Amino acid sequence: MTGLANRALFADRLRQVLARRERQCATAVYFLDLDRFKRINDSLGHSAGDEVLLEVAERLSGEVRPEDTVARFGGDEFTILCESVGVALVEASDSGDGQHLIEDADAAMYRAKERGGARTELFDSAMRDDAVRAMRIEQELQRALEQGELRLHYQPAVDLATGQMVGAEALVRWEHPKRGLISPERFLHVAEETGLIVPLGAWVVGETCRQLAEWQARPETAQLHLSLNLSARELTHPDVVSTVLGCVRESCIDPHSLTIEVTESTAMADGDTGFRALRDLSSEGIRVAIDDFGTGYSSLEQLRRMPVDIVKIDRSFVSGMAANTTDRELVAAVVGMGPALKLCVVAEGIETPDQADALRELGCDIGQGYLFSRPILAEQLDAVLEVSSAR
Ligand code: C2E
Ligand code: MG
Ligand code: MG
Repeated sequence: MTGLANRALFADRLRQVLARRERQCATAVYFLDLDRFKRINDSLGHSAGDEVLLEVAERLSGEVRPEDTVARFGGDEFTILCESVGVALVEASDSGDGQHLIEDADAAMYRAKERGGARTELFDSAMRDDAVRAMRIEQELQRALEQGELRLHYQPAVDLATGQMVGAEALVRWEHPKRGLISPERFLHVAEETGLIVPLGAWVVGETCRQLAEWQARPETAQLHLSLNLSARELTHPDVVSTVLGCVRESCIDPHSLTIEVTESTAMADGDTGFRALRDLSSEGIRVAIDDFGTGYSSLEQLRRMPVDIVKIDRSFVSGMAANTTDRELVAAVVGMGPALKLCVVAEGIETPDQADALRELGCDIGQGYLFSRPILAEQLDAVLEVSSAR
């Protein structure tokens, strides 16, 4: 369609160049892809998408010299092979079929996307490790989802005034058959980049609702609330509202007992897409919490407009309270604005009794942190419940 070389021809040219390359002669492989191309296809249709590809093909061909090769590598991916450009990407000793060169350029392209797109990145060997690691995690995570290796741990949330457990937050873990329990920070970014976060998140929502239904069936746990986290990619997915509402209905839980936690940037992801999903969930009675509050950039105006019920003060402010008066004043200000904005304020990451005391004095409603409990299995929560009800 574009009249450019295809993937096979590109690989062939690269092989030829590498074979006849003089020692001093530098060669570069560029790997390009179009930011948000999918959106053009989805919103304006495939013929509009084709027009964009043609235009890009034409512009790229116009920018290079006749001896260079521009190829459409596939989809919205383009590659360019330049001999003797100023950037030496191929080591003098490099030879072989060039396949790894394309992979390296691809890894650099991924890094460019990861850093927000609209940019170029030069490959370095650390990227090869990153890319290989990400690829392995992706494959293994796919299997983990299929084989049921994911687990939810629950971290209690405690009423700071009474010490009673009022609910818990579901946090995902990966029980790897060989490497043991893996924390979300080690695999969620890969899930987010690859889109695996969507089926993973659907599992989290289903499992959380199932657990909540089990608790609501028992008098001693009937009052507990559960919250779960959604990332930007999950919240802006077109099915997010129907997935959450479907699970709520199927498990027959009270929607008020379920809270969706999102960060400030997630709430504002993709124009107003995130905002609209939150509004729809909120109108069905599901509560919304702003997670890691204070680390983002939302304004009071946005906070007032958003369908938010809870703000969770980020752990960094709580841990800074003792040594840093600014942190203490910031926490006081957030706690203070709660009633005016009709927000419940939760403090995250409470580790010491002093922090709990200080927060209690400021009038903070709810606290979470290692002081009360680490995230634990649902079965272990019974013990925490007994302790807190005995207080
Ligand atoms: P988050 O939602 O802000 O969760 C709080 C994190 O802080 C948890 O880490 C928790 O174990 C940890 N934490 C709690 N209390 C303390 C404390 O007193 N001290 C310290 N040092 N840490 C504390 P975790 O479980 O590793 O989760 C990290 C992040 O991963 C979460 O931050 C959340 O953004 C994300 N996440 C976890 N589960 C899910 C999930 O199912 N879906 C999505 N989309 N994101 C998730
Ligand atoms: Mg959270
Ligand atoms: Mg948090």
